[in-house]
Amino acid sequence: MKYIAVTGGVLSGLGKGIAASSIGRLLKARGFKVTAIKIDPYLNVDAGTMNPYQHGEVFVLGDGGEVDLDLGNYERFLDESLSSEHNITTGKVYLSVINKERDGKYLGGTVQIIPHITDEIKKRIRKVGRESDADITIIEVGGTVGDIESMPFLEALRQMHREEGGHVNFLFVHTTLVPILGTVGEPKTKPTQHSVKELRAIGITPDIILARSEKPIPKKIKRKISLFCDVPERAVVSAQDVKSIYEVPLNFEKQGLTDYIIERMELNNGYEQDIREWEKFVKRLEKAKGEVEIAIVGKYTGLKDSYISHKQALAHSSAETGVNVKIRWLEADDIERDGDIDKFLHGVDGVVIPGGFGNRGIEGKIMSIKYARENGIPFLGICLGFQLATIEFSRNVLGMKEADSTEFDRNTPYPVIDLLPEQKDVKKMGGTMRLGEQKVFIEKGSTAYKLYGKTEISERHRHRYEVNPDFIEKIQEGGFIFTGKDSEGIRMEIGELKEHPYFIATQFHPEFKSRPMKPAPVYLGLVKAAMEYRKKKGS
Ligand code: GLN
Repeated sequence: MKYIAVTGGVLSGLGKGIAASSIGRLLKARGFKVTAIKIDPYLNVDAGTMNPYQHGEVFVLGDGGEVDLDLGNYERFLDESLSSEHNITTGKVYLSVINKERDGKYLGGTVQIIPHITDEIKKRIRKVGRESDADITIIEVGGTVGDIESMPFLEALRQMHREEGGHVNFLFVHTTLVPILGTVGEPKTKPTQHSVKELRAIGITPDIILARSEKPIPKKIKRKISLFCDVPERAVVSAQDVKSIYEVPLNFEKQGLTDYIIERMELNNGYEQDIREWEKFVKRLEKAKGEVEIAIVGKYTGLKDSYISHKQALAHSSAETGVNVKIRWLEADDIERDGDIDKFLHGVDGVVIPGGFGNRGIEGKIMSIKYARENGIPFLGICLGFQLATIEFSRNVLGMKEADSTEFDRNTPYPVIDLLPEQKDVKKMGGTMRLGEQKVFIEKGSTAYKLYGKTEISERHRHRYEVNPDFIEKIQEGGFIFTGKDSEGIRMEIGELKEHPYFIATQFHPEFKSRPMKPAPVYLGLVKAAMEYRKKKGS
């Protein structure tokens, strides 16, 4: 078992997650089995209770883990499915150490950060590596070197480096920023020098430096970083801005990063290289012609990372169809306030309503659904989007004007979306939703069947509310058909409009399983329908 730790310096948001994912992809392309762990030094046990405005989207794993969005990047780049153990937080670590202490497991000893917390961290990392049966485990440390919160984690990694036998088995990759300043546009290396110094102060010497910059870093600057930071010039890699995140592995590969890692870790490189398949995918993405415009009507659109998996599912569909997908980000609140829906949605070729919680923006989303339904614009509703499509149909087609979800109006006379009895008594917030992969059974002959090509699928979930069984018959009679159900036939999973070119909504989240070269079927279907719609429109 070998490990590569990825740390970050200077500032946060450098794209460490993409860097870690890219290194993983490159090593996978050389035939190694790779897995990845994200360390989040915050005190939350998991990301389940976090507002997307703070850390972006809450990603959902197959086992129901609600985790940092970087796990989504790992899954997409590595094409592997991970479990919640791959996200280690301070909350999880302390919770288990404190529980052990309360159970008397420390036999009267003083429980301390070193060694008890650090031991727990190391144990968790090694367990993931072992259970994934990986050749290489990549560990990304969230935050920036120097933060108080990440200290115990860095200390644990420092210890592991020694225990595992040094750089042959444990490599440190440090991501820093090389800003380009002044009128002459000179790349500045001082922040990198300082951040490496900071790392050294805690006993970690980087093996590789990934220098983030707007433009490719010239040889002269690489040499300077090499000199000041005591790494070979080959180990200084330029991580300049690129058009698409999927280009990052190709940029690293070109600079010889994979070869350098293989050499330094004495990895046995006896496999065929298959990065070409990835290359083809990136080319298809970049050579896409024409355009369709898809609106995403959300409530956290100010931070695009809140909807990162939707964005990626559309990118995967773009590469597959060869057409550019432009996203029109719309804030449901604004639509609601303004009231003129045509102004917002005029000209779009498709509409996506993503998941969400709480009242804000609900009416703006319902207005958007109505507009898509009435104007034959391709529509995809996800989770809350599915529930709102059900509400919109009940209100505007079936005449139940006050139809609602009990999440928004407890006293509605038409609770078309409601809690099932087992959810009614749940008081705790964290980890109590219907989470993770669940089987969905699809009706033959439906649009969903056409898209998936099978009657049994497995998709990820994160919701509390369901279509109320008391209204199912009435809604279906009206023409909104539930073509996907859970194994008991109690929970409605997919809804489709009969009289519409493409109007489909899912209670589950297909975006979490969309991967490069394997776009989620309902997104691919949406983009294809949008192309058709655009063609008919004649523009
Ligand atoms: N708020 C809704 C529920 O809890 C939808 C959740 C979601 O969109 N992820 O059921």
